[in-house]
Amino acid sequence: MSIPTRHFDALIIGAGGAGLNAALQLASADVRVAVVSKVFPTRSHTVAAQGGVNAALANVLPDSWHWHMFDTVKGSDYLGDQDAIEFMCREAIPTVYELEHAGVPFSRLDNGKIYQRPFGGQSQNFGGDQAARTCAAADRTGHAILHTLYQQNIRSRTHFFDEFFALDLVRDAEGVICGALVLEIETGEPMLIEAKATLLATGGFGQVFRTTSNAHINTGDGVAMALRADIPLMDMEFFQFHPTGIAGKGMLITEGVRGEGGYLINKDGERFMERYAPRAKDLASRDVVSRAIVTEVKEGRGCGPNGDHVLLKVDHLGEDIISKRLPSIRESSKIFAGADPVREPIPVFPTAHYAMGGIPTDRFGRVAVPAGHGAEEIVPGLYAAGECACASVHGANRLGGNSLLDILVFGRLAGKNIIDYVRENPYQRTTDSASLEQAMSRLTRWEQKGEGIPVSQLRAEFRKCMEDHAGVFRTEEIMTEGYERLCELRERLPEVRLHDHSKVFNTARIEALELENMMDVGMSIAVSALKRQESRGAHSRPDYPDRDDQSWLKHSLYYREGDRMDYKPVRTKPLTVESFPPKERVY
Ligand SMILES: Cc1cc2nc3c(=O)[nH]c(=O)nc-3n(C[C@H](O)[C@H](O)[C@H](O)COP(=O)(O)OP(=O)(O)OC[C@H]3O[C@@H](n4cnc5c(N)ncnc54)[C@H](O)[C@@H]3O)c2cc1C
Repeated sequence: MSIPTRHFDALIIGAGGAGLNAALQLASADVRVAVVSKVFPTRSHTVAAQGGVNAALANVLPDSWHWHMFDTVKGSDYLGDQDAIEFMCREAIPTVYELEHAGVPFSRLDNGKIYQRPFGGQSQNFGGDQAARTCAAADRTGHAILHTLYQQNIRSRTHFFDEFFALDLVRDAEGVICGALVLEIETGEPMLIEAKATLLATGGFGQVFRTTSNAHINTGDGVAMALRADIPLMDMEFFQFHPTGIAGKGMLITEGVRGEGGYLINKDGERFMERYAPRAKDLASRDVVSRAIVTEVKEGRGCGPNGDHVLLKVDHLGEDIISKRLPSIRESSKIFAGADPVREPIPVFPTAHYAMGGIPTDRFGRVAVPAGHGAEEIVPGLYAAGECACASVHGANRLGGNSLLDILVFGRLAGKNIIDYVRENPYQRTTDSASLEQAMSRLTRWEQKGEGIPVSQLRAEFRKCMEDHAGVFRTEEIMTEGYERLCELRERLPEVRLHDHSKVFNTARIEALELENMMDVGMSIAVSALKRQESRGAHSRPDYPDRDDQSWLKHSLYYREGDRMDYKPVRTKPLTVESFPPKERVY
């Protein structure tokens, strides 16, 4: 098979914060790096991040990285690996200063220091008063970070393949991953990119749920590519529902709104979070607030004609603060909810937001898989960072402001480790023809003509199924029904046909490829959730209401082959400090 081929030292799939921060390290060290993105880099979902990035700078209230670490371990419901969490919280401080020096226009305090706002789950002194740890550029922090990283990459001469869609990883004759087959969206032509090291940085997959805060592009292509390469996915049952999506639409209203003093009310005007989290109230962690909202609605205290949402009250902050600190939120609320928060509350309901799980990596961004008898094996030349990866710093529930931090810290670290790897492994491996053919078959499958099920139909049924059967509250019955339904949908996938077989800018073909990826990812969530018989973090089971550390203080691993599950222990030992042993989690 003759396909145009390009060679680089390193291939990065994904141009969000994780991919771009890795690329910057490589390009600055004169390593030949290619970044592939299915959209123009600055359209990656990182651009949509609103609230900010956590670092214990202590610019507003007393703080330390150790308290940040405690909050993150507690927020994770003790499922996060404490060595990785310690590393991230320590690195947060130099990482934010590095961004500042690279040109990120953070909001400022009167004394000129970086502005920090309180966010959910943040405390002082191991569970004491509220801290203010989230560094913000108004409510457009991701926008500011992504544009700065893109500009720095242009300066460092990173090679970009914009609007190229990665189809699958490829291997050499020994089975070592040596790059990826990609599709140029404009021409519809395939191209092989061979590299000594490949980094998956393809972001999240909120699109598997019908109502989501995620961009259309967040379809889990990278995690599905890993699954097809026989790599298991870790902790997929833990999917975060953000408490404040615009009701019925899903667009995000940042936690920063509550950080600035906004609060939730039910139809009686009651500030109901006081009942669920007496101390932290509206700034309890996201899983807690989402469950409280769903419970209010279920028990008949929802607002609106259908009683199907609650209200986020902001008007008491005054027009001045709202316009200065939350300008985009005001816009979104006016456009999508028809409510100007300066005058009226915003109708909100939980929306699918963030994947805690993903491709299992070690603390250095290297993909690590079980090798039997409790041991782990590094997959040579393959790295993952950002939301598609699971390092695991978020465990069963992520704290707001910790994802931008995760992508920056581990993106940077993966970049640094790839530099060493390509220096130690200077020879390019050659793609095996069978591997290339297999990757090509993903494309040729869509050339089949004739009548069949449209992509849009199967996608709608699939996303509705995920929403109904893998949402905020999950029981054995709901999930078993969901799993059976997903199996049926999976069986119908081969009957899906494209009507448009043209090559140039055929977005229907891209959507078909994304649907295949989403369905694999959805299955990994459903199976992992069904098997975990406890409630922990975002995984809430009314039939197993308690956390069960005896049986379930372990990470799940889902394999695509036979929908098989495996488990591995949580790393409870930090790098330099003492462990935080599991305790009851109250806010
Ligand atoms: C609305 C919203 C607000 C948020 N606010 C915050 C916040 O305030 N603080 C915080 O910490 N976190 C926040 N998050 C979470 C955080 O923004 C994301 O987790 C993070 O930005 C993900 O970054 P990433 O680099 O992993 O991926 P992304 O930024 O999603 O980038 C993924 C990249 O992969 C590319 N890609 C994917 N598939 C393919 C393919 N098949 N071929 C080629 N390229 C591909 C895409 O083109 C893109 O460039 C928010 C998330 C959302 C949705």
